[in-house]
Amino acid sequence: DYTAEPFLPEKVTLTTLRRAAAECRGCPLHENATQTVFGAGNTDAHVMLVGEQPGDQEDRQGKPFVGPAGKLLDCALAEAGIDPDDTYVTNAVKHFKFTQAEPKKRRIHKAPSLREMTACGPWLAAELALVEPELIVVLGATAGKALLGSSFRVTQVRGTVLEEEIHGRAERLVPTVHPSSVLRSDDREAAYRGLVGDLEVAARALG
Ligand code: SF4
Repeated sequence: DYTAEPFLPEKVTLTTLRRAAAECRGCPLHENATQTVFGAGNTDAHVMLVGEQPGDQEDRQGKPFVGPAGKLLDCALAEAGIDPDDTYVTNAVKHFKFTQAEPKKRRIHKAPSLREMTACGPWLAAELALVEPELIVVLGATAGKALLGSSFRVTQVRGTVLEEEIHGRAERLVPTVHPSSVLRSDDREAAYRGLVGDLEVAARALG
């Protein structure tokens, strides 16, 4: 079955992980994407933010959350009082999955499958072990399913502090929506306020 496991480095630092993940062939998603987009930020951070997968801009630039959703997330974090220097950001899946009608047409995001999420899980587990965050902010349904299982429903648990064992570690998590869903929302202002509200719960949980 698909898995990133054989590609993990023996010695785990952000540099060795990033280098190794660049060569990952653990599932077919590397075939059409430009490059692996590994997590980034402060490995001593108290907060780890986990999204779904890189988007079009992230895939081109090789960095997580640099596109429109990332910009919106930065604003929401600032409003909620979470210091960006105290965060590490990553995605449940490290390659961009998309459909494209023709070679030069726009690449349209496609949600990763459970198999792909599971395959990519060892990278996320390694990042959690490296960063040892005090709190995980779960951005959207895919990240939630990857971390908490397929029964996860973001609408049921958003803005609450969950305590779960993840990859063998007791973790505290605050789920919220993915910032890209705010951009797609009919009522963007309300959706944005909802995101900020959930992030404020996370900020308070940090103490
Ligand atoms: Fe490896 Fe994850 Fe990319 Fe699949 S999506 S090839 S498991 S890094």
